[in-house]
Amino acid sequence: MQTIQANNYKIVFENTGYEFLAETLKPQFYSKIFIIVDENTSNQCLPHFLANLSTEITIEIIELEAGELHKNIETCLGIWNSLTELEGDRKSILINLGGGVITDIGGFAACTFKRGIDFINVPTTLLAMVDASIGGKNGVDLGNLKNQIGIIREPKAVLVDPHFLTTLSSREMRSGLAEMLKHGLIFDKEYWNKFKNLTNLNTDDLNELIYKSIQIKNTIVSQDLTENGIRKSLNFGHTLGHAIESYFLENENKESLLHGEAIAIGMILESYISKEKNLISESEYLEIKELINSLYEKIEFNNSDIQKIIDLLIFDKKNEFGTIQFALLEGIGKIKINQTSDNDIIIKSFKDYKN
Ligand code: NAD
Repeated sequence: MQTIQANNYKIVFENTGYEFLAETLKPQFYSKIFIIVDENTSNQCLPHFLANLSTEITIEIIELEAGELHKNIETCLGIWNSLTELEGDRKSILINLGGGVITDIGGFAACTFKRGIDFINVPTTLLAMVDASIGGKNGVDLGNLKNQIGIIREPKAVLVDPHFLTTLSSREMRSGLAEMLKHGLIFDKEYWNKFKNLTNLNTDDLNELIYKSIQIKNTIVSQDLTENGIRKSLNFGHTLGHAIESYFLENENKESLLHGEAIAIGMILESYISKEKNLISESEYLEIKELINSLYEKIEFNNSDIQKIIDLLIFDKKNEFGTIQFALLEGIGKIKINQTSDNDIIIKSFKDYKN
């Protein structure tokens, strides 16, 4: 897979990627390497990564607890303390080896430690490969509110090695798929159509789909790093998706929802809103709803859940001057940003999702 050029860094793949890392991680450039892992990537991914990494620089490992519940400022404080105790300096480099939780929090820790040190993302989940590791958004949750604290700063490089996916559960794979579906829906109808028949997918097909998704995300972010315009299109499904994710995180009696699972529901709901605003046709809406519902388990929402999720929208970090902002579809493969919606339509979108 050919290297992709992002604004100020390269997205490198497999063997070429490890060669690029060997060139980058030289003692004349960096004093120490810190690899951030979680308890799972420590076991499943670190041995493969270290076996392929060629460097003379001292390596220290910082291991975190896994999961969204740990993507917070307390965990970040732990990283800053470890970096300090292990004598990290301004010439240290941090490598984030993990899913989106690790790339988000590791990136944030790197951007803030000693006013910013270099970091490299090595995504190990499908979701992090096609989305979270690309584009320079780093941050943590504030309580259950998603990504409220953060910074936009690009990594030094991203290394994508699909080998890591061999140990990822099918549920986590499906979670990542949601962001790939989104890339098709907002930007490329032909790419969306590829997901209509996912049976008999071999490794080459998957690698091709991953590569295309990264290209789409990178094309969008490269034009608008700080999200003043086109980058907002990547928020399709995320206004309601993030509120749903937050609601499930804060309710211990609810089953846990993965990020992509929440976004998948958010995409159905926001497609419904797009239809109600005459931005997509009824048949396009049904096509989206049926495909997504065929891939993800249906979740039950009662009236109280729906109201509480709507109440959470006020905390969405995309809101401007108190107005809740949506990125809605304008046909499949195209997006219209800076849209609003009445609560009545949002409630109807949940009712329709249920049926
Ligand atoms: P995650 O990082 O929690 O990883 C999911 C689970 O898989 C974890 O338990 C992890 O330990 C495990 N795991 C990781 N790699 C593995 C492997 N190769 N084999 C076996 N297990 C493995 O979650 P995620 O879905 O990767 O990322 C979700 C996060 O990404 C959310 O916090 C979301 O907000 C964030 N995100 C950020 C951006 C961005 O632009 N910064 C974009 C999308 C999502």
